[in-house]
Amino acid sequence: MISMELGTIMVCFVGIPLLITAILSLVYSFQSMHRTNREKESIYECVDCGHVYAFARSRPMDRCPRCGHLNEAVRT
Ligand SMILES: [Zn+2]
Repeated sequence: MISMELGTIMVCFVGIPLLITAILSLVYSFQSMHRTNREKESIYECVDCGHVYAFARSRPMDRCPRCGHLNEAVRT
């Protein structure tokens, strides 16, 4: 049987999973930093010309940049 020291076992079963968890939390926090700007945007679809556009401000209605028709937000 392979004999391992207690320190080696602790590194294998505690240290490595802890390191992986720390790396994953860093990756997810970087992703959420980019996502927060996207979530502030409101998405609009023009009823008149079908143009889909997004604005970073949360208004219930906004004008279409293509034809100027006033549209309701599809997703805020
Ligand atoms: Zn339009």
